[in-house]
Amino acid sequence: MSWSKEEFGFDTRAIHAGQIPDPTTGAIMTPLYLTSTYVQSAPGIHQGYDYSRSGNPTRSAYEQCVANLESARFGFAMASGCVGTATIVHLLSAGDHVVACDDMYGGSYRLFERVFAKQGIRFSYVDLSDAGNLARALEKETKLVWIETPSNPLMKLIDIEAIVKLSHDAGALLAVDNTFASPYFQRPIELGADIVLHSTTKYINGHSDLIGGVVVTDDDAIAEQLKFLANAIGGIQSAFDAYLCLRSLKTLGVRMRAHEANALAVAKFLEGHAKVERVRYPGLPSHPQHALAERQMSGNSGMLTFNVKGDLAATRRVLERFRVFALAESLGGVESLIEHPAIMTHASLPAEIRASLGIGDNLIRVSVGIESSDDLLADLDHALAAA
Ligand SMILES: *Cc1c(COP(=O)(O)O)cnc(C)c1O
Repeated sequence: MSWSKEEFGFDTRAIHAGQIPDPTTGAIMTPLYLTSTYVQSAPGIHQGYDYSRSGNPTRSAYEQCVANLESARFGFAMASGCVGTATIVHLLSAGDHVVACDDMYGGSYRLFERVFAKQGIRFSYVDLSDAGNLARALEKETKLVWIETPSNPLMKLIDIEAIVKLSHDAGALLAVDNTFASPYFQRPIELGADIVLHSTTKYINGHSDLIGGVVVTDDDAIAEQLKFLANAIGGIQSAFDAYLCLRSLKTLGVRMRAHEANALAVAKFLEGHAKVERVRYPGLPSHPQHALAERQMSGNSGMLTFNVKGDLAATRRVLERFRVFALAESLGGVESLIEHPAIMTHASLPAEIRASLGIGDNLIRVSVGIESSDDLLADLDHALAAA
């Protein structure tokens, strides 16, 4: 069964795509195949699997399901979001150039600058929330454009369709880190992007109990190369973690709707709070790119940031007073998290880059979970009283 998006809705595909009842027992859930190798009936004659780095039935079911949800045909489940990113950059060769957005996950910046730059790949970082900046940054050697939208932590949006056109005209591939939106709210491949990356550690798994990544494409030639790289480098996801992600996908739609409802309540509450200077949430009409958000996303996840009215000391006092929100890095889980980008997630960006981007000492990032929303608002009010 192909579970096409023409025929079935997102929530139906999240529960069924890539999965068939086990033919030997009828088990409705995809078994967890904890095996490294597969018995062959004659040399080279097997049932499609020969070694679990190259392929594992649990991982394949999950890869097909997540690819389906991104409106694509090929998925590659990786051991982390970072190894997914690294596998994509390995499509390039020394001498190639990459244009990346300037406001992105700190670990992606670290990987580009401190690992791949040493191997002869060049990177330019540009504010791509204005697509016109891409035209000026493209070079003859540009082979890849890398964007993250909504961005981390400033919730800037990038117009995917505009970037697709400019990238393709220049002969470059476009990869989109879709971690913040999840495929429930945004599907870059439908807008023309070549490759999608997720840190599945976040919304796709959604339960804060594993590290994982997935790379998705609908292009046969790119898929062939990614398949080769995933096997050659070997950064694949374990069968157990693939099993957990497959289980989590079934509730992705339900969870995202709950994240969105709670985040909107939190964003409105913060916007009206006397101790808050500014809120950034694409679902609020006050977001400078609200119209673009409405056009390219079908909704908004639980991610938002706000600035406390006050200095670093006041911001620290707020962060230390939460009882329901947990002070922790990461995002996208069912539980609400709160963190300080300048000290925590974005410490790997040089201080002058942080300052030029606007990642100030009073900026707080929130991953709104799916607890009772009244409890979240009361907790925020209690903490902000310390500002
Ligand atoms: C967490 C994250 C990553 C890296 O993923 P890991 O699973 O931690 O390796 C990449 N991009 C974004 C937007 C992230 O939030």
